[in-house]
Amino acid sequence: MAKLTFYGAIEGVTGSMYLLQTGNSKVLLDCGLFQGRREEEEANLKPLPFDVSQLDAVVLSHAHLDHSGRLPLLVSQGLSCPIYMTSATKELIEVLLKDAASLQQRDVEWENKRRRRAGKEEIEPLYNLQDVETTLDVCIGISYHQKRDVAENVTVHFLDAGHILGSAIVEVFIDEQGGPKKLVFSGDLGNSQAALLNDPELVDSADVLLLESTYGDRDHRSMEETLQEFEDVIEEASENGGNILIPSFAVGRTQEIIFRLGELYQKGKLRQQAVFLDSPMAIAVTEIYHRYQNIFNEQDRSAMGGENNQQSLHKFLPALRYSSSTEESMALNQIDRGAIFIAGSGMCNGGRIRHHLKHNLWRNQSHVIFVGFQAIGTPGRALVDGAKTYKIAGENIAVKAQIHTMGGFSAHASQTQLIQWAQGFTTKKPQLFLVHGEDKAKQTLQAAFKKVGWQATIPTLNQTIQF
Ligand code: ZN
Repeated sequence: MAKLTFYGAIEGVTGSMYLLQTGNSKVLLDCGLFQGRREEEEANLKPLPFDVSQLDAVVLSHAHLDHSGRLPLLVSQGLSCPIYMTSATKELIEVLLKDAASLQQRDVEWENKRRRRAGKEEIEPLYNLQDVETTLDVCIGISYHQKRDVAENVTVHFLDAGHILGSAIVEVFIDEQGGPKKLVFSGDLGNSQAALLNDPELVDSADVLLLESTYGDRDHRSMEETLQEFEDVIEEASENGGNILIPSFAVGRTQEIIFRLGELYQKGKLRQQAVFLDSPMAIAVTEIYHRYQNIFNEQDRSAMGGENNQQSLHKFLPALRYSSSTEESMALNQIDRGAIFIAGSGMCNGGRIRHHLKHNLWRNQSHVIFVGFQAIGTPGRALVDGAKTYKIAGENIAVKAQIHTMGGFSAHASQTQLIQWAQGFTTKKPQLFLVHGEDKAKQTLQAAFKKVGWQATIPTLNQTIQF
């Protein structure tokens, strides 16, 4: 019998981690950070619930930190086996984990200043840049559709999940004495309406399926309507001469927005002179994305000329400019009309977007377009909810700009898409476990599966199942 224990992404969407144990092998699937409120993030400090040195392999579904962000902890705690992922994921985690380590270092330095003044003991970051380097040394990138033996009697096969570049659906084949078994971990499944990537590949058989359920309780607004709205705002801004600010996450959404702006340019509908990508991390990620155009969907790849390189992106959107250095970024504050700024953070609680907000929010003719989810308590959410002022470095900025929210851009499959994908299991219908969702999303999805005659289980934290 194989055993699977649910160690994360069970009471919410973060901290993805599952341990598979067979007769001879222990394989860890994902090792993500818990993110969100302080109490949730404290879970990252707890000792890992298994002996790290006993693992035979670690398998990562995709680069997002809620799936990959605790990998350096494994290494600092004595991991002695490889970590498998797709080649594109390997390139992306280098950028993401280094950024995470730098942020932790900065937060800890700030906290320790406070602690020293209060006569308290100092704290250490979760991990540092050296731990990240050591982690990258044991990462092995493999291609989609290439079977790989990762431990005794355990073989892994990655399929395209279409969620972010390199994201995988993980098929795990277990050759046990009682007969072969197959576990499928969906990872995060992409939204088939999104640009650039392929639709999630279908799988037709498994004994056990772990299915993400982030949007288990809703469907997305149609992409057609979203793109029309996007086009209208850009048109309006070009007529009244204001700048457009797009707060955006570095991985996925930024590249999709750049592509959509390129489509408008190609249709003669983008009159703005410059689109500034003002984020060193997003620039690095965009470069990785376009080195892997061969895994984009055929339609969008050929729209960009099918050349598989950076130049094709810049031909597709000639107005695109990268601003890497702080000086370049500060110079952008002088531009008071006709530009589009894309910068992080996506929820406006950090990063260069704050400076753009400072210099543009108080102008009537400016526009801010929110293209991603805004969590409660973030400045982004306050702006979406109609805040009259925005505070930066003790200064209150009046909000006169027009604020737009576009809910249709999403990197996750909707409820309908999740069910349709699961219905691809036509040869052998697996036992279904819903993970990676808030309670309401999982319960609603469970009810929706029941309607199509499929009993889905919602596992509890630390629960072990056998199959
Ligand atoms: Zn993800």
